[in-house]
Amino acid sequence: MTSAREQPGAAPSGETACVVVGGGPAGVVLALLLARRGVPVTVLEKHADLDRSFRGNTLNPAALDLLHEVGLAERVLALPHTKTTHFTAVDARGPLRFADFGALRTRFPFVLLLQQAAFLPMLADELGRYEHARFVTGADVQALIEEGGAVRGVVYEKDGERRELRAALTVACDGRGSRVRALAGLRPTSSDVPIDVLWFTLPRRPEDAAEAGAHFRFGGGTMFALMDAGTHWQVGAILRKDGFPEVRARGIGAFRSDVAATVPLLADRVDALESWERTALLRVEVSRLRRWYRPGLLFLGDAAHAMSPVGMVGINLAIQDAACAAERLAGPLRAGRVRERDLRAVQRRRAPSVRLVQALQALIHRRILAPMLGAPEPVLPPPARWAMRQPPLRHLATRLIAYGRPW
Ligand SMILES: Cc1cc2nc3c(=O)[nH]c(=O)nc-3n(C[C@H](O)[C@H](O)[C@H](O)COP(=O)(O)OP(=O)(O)OC[C@H]3O[C@@H](n4cnc5c(N)ncnc54)[C@H](O)[C@@H]3O)c2cc1C
Repeated sequence: MTSAREQPGAAPSGETACVVVGGGPAGVVLALLLARRGVPVTVLEKHADLDRSFRGNTLNPAALDLLHEVGLAERVLALPHTKTTHFTAVDARGPLRFADFGALRTRFPFVLLLQQAAFLPMLADELGRYEHARFVTGADVQALIEEGGAVRGVVYEKDGERRELRAALTVACDGRGSRVRALAGLRPTSSDVPIDVLWFTLPRRPEDAAEAGAHFRFGGGTMFALMDAGTHWQVGAILRKDGFPEVRARGIGAFRSDVAATVPLLADRVDALESWERTALLRVEVSRLRRWYRPGLLFLGDAAHAMSPVGMVGINLAIQDAACAAERLAGPLRAGRVRERDLRAVQRRRAPSVRLVQALQALIHRRILAPMLGAPEPVLPPPARWAMRQPPLRHLATRLIAYGRPW
C-alpha cells in the first residue's frame, strides 16, 4: 500500500516531530490524531501492505465513540462489517447471555466485527490528507538513534537501503513481538496462560439464524468461539497451551468432527476446512511493560501490553492508548519538547485499565477455561453460571468489554 504522501522509492529521511513504528491500529490511529492536531508525524510500517487476517477485528463502543469524535465513524460503518449485540455462552445446560451491548446507553450499542485489512487502509488513506503526515510501507525499523541518554529517532531499511529518521519522540506501536522494545533493552513481565487459539472460517448460509451475536460453545473436550462475519463464520478453537501439535497429529478429519459435534450448525459445512493451511494459530500471550517509556520513547498497544483474546479487547485498548497519547502529547510535540513526565502521564492514565482487564482475563483463564479444557462433558463452573445470571454482574462484564473499564 502506498499512501498519497509517499513518493514511490523515496522514503523520507531527515527529521519529523514524531516517528511511529508500526502501522497497526495503535500506530495509525495515533498518527491520524496527531496529524489532525498539526503535529508532523511519520509512520514506518515494515510490511508492504496492510492485508492481514485473523487479527483482533472487533471495534467496541469506546473505539467507535472515538472514531465518531474525529468524524470517521460513518466511513468505518460504510466498510463491510457485522454488528454483534450480545455474547452468549452455550454448554450442555443451554445458552447463557453474559454481555448485552444493546442495554448500554451509547450511540453504538454493539461490537463491530470488521477486518483490519479494510479498517487500516481507510485510516491510512485519511492520514494521506495531511501534508505533514507520511505513511511509509516496506520500512523495517532496525535500530534506535540514541543521544545523551535519550532516543532521538530510528534507523530503518527500505528497498535494501538503510535510512535515518530523527524525531523528538519515537512511539513504538510495533506489536506484541516489539523489536523496539528489545532494542531499548526492555522486557515485559508475562503471566502464565493456559490457552492458544486456532482461527479459521466456515461459510455462512443465508438460512442460518440471524444471531447478531458471538457464541462460545463448550462440548466434547473442546471450546469454540463463533463470530457472525456476514458472509462467513469466524471460528476460534480454544486449545490447551502448546496443544496444537497434538490436535494436528490427530488429523484434520478428527478436528472437523470435533467442530461438527460441538457446533451442530456447522456440521453440514465442516468439509470446507480442507487443510491446516486454512487455519491460523494465535499463541496467546498476556504481558506488559512495567514502564512504558524512556526519554524520547513511548510504547503503546500490544508493544506495551499483549492481551488475551478473551473479551476481544486488544485492538480497542490499543486505540484508546493512541487517543490518550495524542491528547496528552500533541502540545509538547508542537512545542518541540516532550518531557518524561508527559510520557509518564500517558502510562498513568492507561495502565489501570490494562491491569484490570488482564487480571480479569487471568481469572477467566484459571477459573473457567482451564478446568473446562479436556473435560469430557464441559459445563460452566456453577459460580460462573451464577455470576452470568446476575444483571449487575452482566452489566459489569458488558461495560468491561465495551469500554475496557467498569465505569
Ligand atoms: C497473529 C495475531 C493474531 C491475533 N489475534 C487476536 C485475536 O484473536 N483477538 C484479539 O483481541 N487480538 C488479537 N491479536 C492482537 C490484536 O491484533 C492487537 O491487539 C491489535 O492489532 C492492536 O495492535 P497494535 O497496533 O498495538 O499492534 P499490531 O496490530 O500487532 O501492529 C503492529 C505493527 O507493527 C509492524 N511492525 C512490527 N515490527 C516492525 C518494525 N521493526 N518496523 C516497522 N514496523 C513494524 C507490524 O507489521 C504491524 O503492522 C492478534 C495479534 C496477532 C499478531
